[in-house]
Amino acid sequence: MVDFGFGLVPSSRINLDLFDKGKYEELAALEPDVRICMACGSCTAVCTAGKFEPTSLREAIEDIKNARADKALQMLEPCQLCGKCSMVCPRGINTRHLILSINKIYSEK
Ligand code: SF4
Ligand code: SF4
Repeated sequence: MVDFGFGLVPSSRINLDLFDKGKYEELAALEPDVRICMACGSCTAVCTAGKFEPTSLREAIEDIKNARADKALQMLEPCQLCGKCSMVCPRGINTRHLILSINKIYSEK
């Protein structure tokens, strides 16, 4: 590997060998819309819980796609399932249902 004299800090490294494709496919079978999220952040901008806790559905979806399911679950923990995010999602994603499915699938060992 070429040494450029700098590198990523460990917390920014993504080890895609840890990506659980099985669980992602299970999630996508239940919630095909997870594939059409365009990471616009509208959901995060209006999030009720996000005003008090670090909560972001946009980030959670990206975390799942980047082999960081644990971080995604942590990110969604304060979610109150209020549904505001589903009202603003430009892709019309049923975000509450998606959040429930993420919690269900990724909490199972
Ligand atoms: S508002 Fe919808 S499309 Fe935008 S980041 Fe959230 S879930 Fe994805
Ligand atoms: S359903 Fe959860 S993620 Fe969506 S706006 Fe409400 S608290 Fe935030």
